[in-house]
Amino acid sequence: MENRKILVIEDEKPIADILKYGFEKEGFQVQCAYTGSEGFAMACKEPPALVLLDWMLPDIGGVDVCRMLTEQYRMPIIMLTARGSVEDKLYGLESGADDYITKPFDLREVIARARTILRRFDKARGASEDDSFVCGHLTVVEREHSVYCQDRLVNLTPKEYELLICFLKHPRQVFTRTALLDQIWGYDFTGDTRTVDIHVQRIRKKAELDGMLVTVFGVGYKYVPQ
Ligand code: CA
Repeated sequence: MENRKILVIEDEKPIADILKYGFEKEGFQVQCAYTGSEGFAMACKEPPALVLLDWMLPDIGGVDVCRMLTEQYRMPIIMLTARGSVEDKLYGLESGADDYITKPFDLREVIARARTILRRFDKARGASEDDSFVCGHLTVVEREHSVYCQDRLVNLTPKEYELLICFLKHPRQVFTRTALLDQIWGYDFTGDTRTVDIHVQRIRKKAELDGMLVTVFGVGYKYVPQ
């Protein structure tokens, strides 16, 4: 089902209320947070379709919240601010925001721009579905070399990524440590099989694969989907 959730992070309650009113009238579900940390926590708990984020917040600044969110999630963000200089705009966009609206704003314009971004985002997501596959709670987008756990981007090194893909593409197949070393690190690799153990432990934790990426004692590892 289409995600119609909007998260408003704005410390000025009257402005948050106006946005909530406007977007709800258009059929969106709106949640409001009044500090950066509260907003970040809400976005992590229940990733919205779009975030409207105020620049000046009492605790964590909007630009930092934006960076924290875009590091972990792919959700579009519109920055709201009373400032309007070109430098600020560039800074806001560099932090990962998709658009930038200055206050005072026209509610209809905010809604129109939000719709445009949501459409663009849905399209991009649709296009990348061609080379993506789902394994339980994980979504792999091969072109991006990215793995998502629910909507959270799993932060993997290139070797961890290759190793994880190898397991996901061969469910229930047992791999010996030597076979994995050969396959992922190549025959020239001079390290020992403990390298494999360390990498397996890391991807187990990062991709939440406890009980799925299992040790086969005396042999190696296998991925058992649940
Ligand atoms: Ca503010």
